[in-house]
Amino acid sequence: MKKFVGAHTSAAGGVSNAVYHAQKIGAKAFALFTKNQRQWSAKPLSTEEIDTFKKAMEVCGIAPRHVLPHDSYLINLGHPEADKRQKSLEAFIDEVERCRALGLDRLNFHPGSHLKQLSEEACMDLIAEAMNRTLDVTEGITLVLENTAGQGSNLGWRFEHLAYIIERVHDRARVGVCIDTCHMFSAGYDIRTKEAYDISMAQFGNIVGFDYLKGMHLNDAKPDLGSHVDRHESIGKGKIGLEAFRHIMNDPRMDDIPLILETIDESIWDREIALLYSLTE
Ligand code: ZN
Ligand code: MN
Ligand code: MN
Repeated sequence: MKKFVGAHTSAAGGVSNAVYHAQKIGAKAFALFTKNQRQWSAKPLSTEEIDTFKKAMEVCGIAPRHVLPHDSYLINLGHPEADKRQKSLEAFIDEVERCRALGLDRLNFHPGSHLKQLSEEACMDLIAEAMNRTLDVTEGITLVLENTAGQGSNLGWRFEHLAYIIERVHDRARVGVCIDTCHMFSAGYDIRTKEAYDISMAQFGNIVGFDYLKGMHLNDAKPDLGSHVDRHESIGKGKIGLEAFRHIMNDPRMDDIPLILETIDESIWDREIALLYSLTE
């Protein structure tokens, strides 16, 4: 088996619950928040929680490289105000350390937002600087930049943004990228037909490079191509449609990385996972 499909499961009641939830829906991969994503701080993970999580991973047969933890929505590493940026950096380092404690190897995050107070370049310089500071004081975790839809002042919707940031990170062995299909489409990269998919993915390959691809978010999109609106839809029910996901499921460049559903109806995740696997030729 080469494709590892799962979903962003709930860690309510303990991080190990996310693993068992994944197993229950037939997932071979999963994403989780290691703390409440809408709060700045959390108490450290206890030794017991960590052990229970690692045991769950073993029981369910899921490897750390197939887990794509996601950081808090509050963090903005490119915040124009120094005190808020510092707060974000501290929270981000804490998130990296939590992933490390759980035996994981990567952390997915949104690059950041200029809030209309900085140029794109100035904001991306700050993001890269925060990544460098994080990499200096942590080990073992790859920082995975997620492409965005470009809603509001969010950066990272152009592949050039991701390349710009990566270029400024010193330890590129610990940088990765997560492509979110909804965000990509909403940002203006078409993947609906095989021809469009090949062109858009070649752009990613040329501008960023598939060596950096450490995960994907598989979401259909409610909004139209290029609308810069971030609204996910269930697989095959949105503006992207099922064919794009057939291309992904048969693309060897997406082998052995976590392919994570963040679709809106979690009651059908088990069926969506089965559907995606059925597309493999
Ligand atoms: Zn995200
Ligand atoms: Mn996403
Ligand atoms: Mn989104």
